[in-house]
Amino acid sequence: MEVRTRFAPSPTGYMHLGNLRSALYTYLFAKHEGGKFILRLEDTDQNRYVEGAVDVIYRTLSDIGLKWDEGPDKGGQYGPYIQSERKDMYLPYAQELVKAGKAYYCFCTKEELEVRRAEAEAKGETFKYDKHCLNLPQEEIQRRIANGESYVIRQNVPLTGEASFDDVIYGHIKVDCSELDDMILIKADGMPTYNFANVIDDHTMGITHVMRGNEYLASTPKYNLLYEAFGWEKPVYIHLTNIMRDATHKLSKRDGDAYYEDYIAKGYIREAIVNYVSLLGWNPGDEREFFTLDELTQAFSLGGLSKSPAIFDVNKLTWMNAEYIRMMNEQEFTAHAKAYYRQAGVDAMDSSVLWRILQPRVEIFSQIPDMVDFLVNLPDYELELYTNKKSKTDSEVSKNVLKMVIPLLEQLPQWDETLIHDRLLGLAAEKEMKNGTLLWPVRIAMAGKTVTPGGAMEIAVLLGKDETMRRLKLGLERLENE
Ligand code: GLU
Repeated sequence: MEVRTRFAPSPTGYMHLGNLRSALYTYLFAKHEGGKFILRLEDTDQNRYVEGAVDVIYRTLSDIGLKWDEGPDKGGQYGPYIQSERKDMYLPYAQELVKAGKAYYCFCTKEELEVRRAEAEAKGETFKYDKHCLNLPQEEIQRRIANGESYVIRQNVPLTGEASFDDVIYGHIKVDCSELDDMILIKADGMPTYNFANVIDDHTMGITHVMRGNEYLASTPKYNLLYEAFGWEKPVYIHLTNIMRDATHKLSKRDGDAYYEDYIAKGYIREAIVNYVSLLGWNPGDEREFFTLDELTQAFSLGGLSKSPAIFDVNKLTWMNAEYIRMMNEQEFTAHAKAYYRQAGVDAMDSSVLWRILQPRVEIFSQIPDMVDFLVNLPDYELELYTNKKSKTDSEVSKNVLKMVIPLLEQLPQWDETLIHDRLLGLAAEKEMKNGTLLWPVRIAMAGKTVTPGGAMEIAVLLGKDETMRRLKLGLERLENE
């Protein structure tokens, strides 16, 4: 039997990392098994629909390389793949259930339900639909429908017995039917609820394995009653454990750190995000930590899925991101860094030198502007910075060094890193000075700070001759006026 999995997001906003992980595992499992990965958009809840969210779904999946075999834009023999376009398919299934006594028409209005809910709550009971409309005579139902009365169709959950299902991760899950509500299958607007549509769609699309977040764990017994009512074969269920911020809190939508886009905006790279997220709740069974999507596909198995919640550790993600950056060549690094160079105003500077000084230090790309800001704006630095024990420098030494260095660099025939290097070190040798004693004041004058990516020669090349000379002279002038 061919494995068919689906990712079934609702277009309600950005992509939560939990959803991204569901999509990823769903894809990996299908591809590992040589099966099909299907994209289905669940947009039956028009109130939650967010403009542009469909594009976010397409963009994010494409961005991370999850190619769907069938989907809204792609077609396939089980289409359409957007629930609102399948609207007319659901009612006949609901009517079939009505005929079999497994569902019924309900005309109770919102107001009536509110009154009954309030009554129940006053008695300290949780309100459950009371099957008020279960036994309406056939003629009355037809008359009220013909009169245009608003109605829904509800599932007729047995009053006794239990509903259950087997989950790959959570094992056998069962609930007493007496605890279950007669959930709405078809809403007053004619749309199916998610609860009904997911069952009809998974069955009619030939889905063999349903993988999704564990917030559906509690409803799945009810879905199984529907499968049983139709006499359909059930899919294999895999409900994924939560991604947690810490031991007690879920990675929540409110904290600004739950969405894929948050991390992209912060300068994380998608391969690192995917790699890290893949390991939140799954392990390959060996010590490996770094995986491309192809390697994940090969390694993935349901047996590696974890039974306990995964803790999202942003430091670990940052570490992994840095490791990915270290593996980049100049071209790859520059392609990622460009936008940040532009933001910092260093995009006209020598990108090879920028690469050389930044690649070993950057952990996430958004750190770049702060790291290179000194190249554009010389900080308003304290003259104390010229004093450094290790380099054996103080204001006096620094003044003398700058006095010698300025004419030396001024006379250089070209502004070339090797040449600058050779001349500066040549001068140190000639004056029998430690290299550090000579380079420290030069670097302070050029950068206005003690810690910089890159050393004096690299900074000189990036600044160019004019700006370097201006800063060196300014440094000297300030030391002289001290
Ligand atoms: N549309 C549901 C959601 O976005 C998907 C649930 C499922 O995969 O069955 O949460």
